[in-house]
Amino acid sequence: MPGMIRVVRFVALIGALAAPPASRLLAQGAPPSPPQGPRWLNADTSKKTNQSNFRTLEEWPAPNEYRTGSGGPGPKYWQQKVDYVIRTTLDTAAHRVTGSERITYHNNAPEKLGYIWLQLDQDIDQKDSRAALSQRAFARQLSPQTRAFLFPETEAQGGYTITRVQLVDATGKKTDAKYYHNGTQMRVDLAAPLGTAQAAMVDVDWSYVVPERGRNGRGVREKVKDGWLYEVAQWFPRAAVYDDVNGWQNVQFYGQGEFYLEFGDYDVSITVPHDHIVRATGSLVNPGEVLTGTQRARLLQAWASDTPVFIVKAEEVMTAAARPAGNGPLTWRFKAQNVRDFAWASSKAYVWDAMGFRYKPGSRLIEMHSVYPRDAMPLWNRVSTLAIRQTMLTYGRMAFEYPYPQASNVHGPVFGMEYPMIAFCGARPRPDGTYEKSLEYSLASVTIHEVGHNWFPMIVASDERKWTWMDEGLNSFLEYYGSLDYDKAWPQPIMRGPGKNLTAYMKTPSQVPLMTESDAIFANFGNNGYSKPATGLVMLRETILGAEAFDRAFREYSQKWMFKHPQPQDFFRSLAAGAGEQANWFWRGWFYTTYANDQALTSVETQDAKELTGDTKRGSFYHRFRVEQLGGLVMPLHFRVTYDDGTEETIRLPADIWRNNEKDFVYGYFSNKGVQQVVVDPNELFVDINRENNVWKKPLPRPLP
Ligand SMILES: [Zn+2]
Repeated sequence: MPGMIRVVRFVALIGALAAPPASRLLAQGAPPSPPQGPRWLNADTSKKTNQSNFRTLEEWPAPNEYRTGSGGPGPKYWQQKVDYVIRTTLDTAAHRVTGSERITYHNNAPEKLGYIWLQLDQDIDQKDSRAALSQRAFARQLSPQTRAFLFPETEAQGGYTITRVQLVDATGKKTDAKYYHNGTQMRVDLAAPLGTAQAAMVDVDWSYVVPERGRNGRGVREKVKDGWLYEVAQWFPRAAVYDDVNGWQNVQFYGQGEFYLEFGDYDVSITVPHDHIVRATGSLVNPGEVLTGTQRARLLQAWASDTPVFIVKAEEVMTAAARPAGNGPLTWRFKAQNVRDFAWASSKAYVWDAMGFRYKPGSRLIEMHSVYPRDAMPLWNRVSTLAIRQTMLTYGRMAFEYPYPQASNVHGPVFGMEYPMIAFCGARPRPDGTYEKSLEYSLASVTIHEVGHNWFPMIVASDERKWTWMDEGLNSFLEYYGSLDYDKAWPQPIMRGPGKNLTAYMKTPSQVPLMTESDAIFANFGNNGYSKPATGLVMLRETILGAEAFDRAFREYSQKWMFKHPQPQDFFRSLAAGAGEQANWFWRGWFYTTYANDQALTSVETQDAKELTGDTKRGSFYHRFRVEQLGGLVMPLHFRVTYDDGTEETIRLPADIWRNNEKDFVYGYFSNKGVQQVVVDPNELFVDINRENNVWKKPLPRPLP
């Protein structure tokens, strides 16, 4: 406690005083003498510029006709639409996915396009991909875990084999297209510039081997007791986004920045071995061809049930009862509207349970599905589908009701990954089926998280290849409330949201600001992309704006940007507009810097009120608490005061108190009670990185000589 001054007077009066309600007034006397120069934190005052934490955010691009000053889509907002028809086959002997797709690209941009860029995410597994070449040398010793996850050198060259790229004209005539590769992107030249409101069709044929461990890490296969599980994602050439902010968004796929894609309609036919069960984005449109009569009847039961119903029971896995008659490959056909991607999973090992969900009795049915191998029981059948339901409820309340017809959760090698209407989650019991209670929380939280990604960024479709916090952060924030709703007794330490859980990270020197592109967040990706934004939003909701103002603004942001592409400034501006609070200091400090909060209580002083004002009308004492900001952030200031009579009071001051002087603040008020103890930020809300200087205690009386 450096520089602590302990001035305590008139302690003896306490016992004699009654305790009327404490009257509290901000210091109204003479202002402190003006300090030399502006008292700004983090300022280089030689620059003679405005460096206040409260200043307008010059970092935000000016509003325009596409994006308004209140953070909404502007009157001329536009975005592209890209539709896909895909036929694909899974060869389980070679683990190869072969596909043929037709891309119909609708140009809504106010300019002509001479070419279309496609994302080839699988090409991250080419031997000479930039991600491969950027791999740092191994350390001298590798942990067993690192060894287990080494990129397999024995596997054939990963990535795509592209066998056909053709342009298709309006009459259906096909001509070979000129195309050009640049890393994980491919440019396809169009026959003629594509005007506004025109569409172009491109056909691409391709194949790749689903890796066991790819750099991508998201579309992989795994062999479990009953056979191979295939999680097929980022699996077909997909149009890159063309928008008003980036033009073509050509950020390479390095693995960490996920993906930014256009909305469109999908018609996907997936041919797999007869004994496989498939789950995918969209609705199954040919259940009569791929499901048994019993399974279709069970699905109807499931839609009316409020507990999960088995569609494929554990004892039916890999038996004739689980599949329609015959033995040739089966084609599962799924259609999805207004989605920004498509993923699927296939295995003969799946148990399948399902249940219906409706926001109101009698309203639109939302199907909820879980598929998992028997290795995942008895955990998955107990937790997965109920956790999907929790996501529907919590995210529906805080953002908007789930607009899609179904949500699926798939167990396999991917620990947690999201695609429209389908999530991959990895929590698995021990081989003997036992597990700790904490694994139940792990599966519930990862399910809430991954299914929750349908809202952010699958529907509120931010640019996640650039801004991890906009999807992971917003989603982790809602996951926090989803977890609390799922079980009020949720073990707190695992949670992303409470301020005290972020303290260690806020002390680390390797931090980068949240406004750092996803692939430049080199350390602490989870803390940066997930925990810090989630914690900041919890803070904003619970203590800075209040739940009512925050929730309204957050819902408004979510609904304005459904099926659209918001940018960071659109989020900040939406919150500021909806809550009526600019909070520049918060957006700047929390999102654009790595400064931490360290509020230090440097003195507590009590003065006889009569000495100060000539009377005791306002109270017998005047207390002064001096707080210095030793970090770089301004934050609200909370005190918990314990009085001599043992009563406690919490004083909550807004961050505005730092407006005139960001370095120190003296709070003063009248009271009839003497002060025994003062604690700054008593509920650990503001991620104070040094709590040693947050407490003041009245010194014990000196013993008589
Ligand atoms: Zn996530």
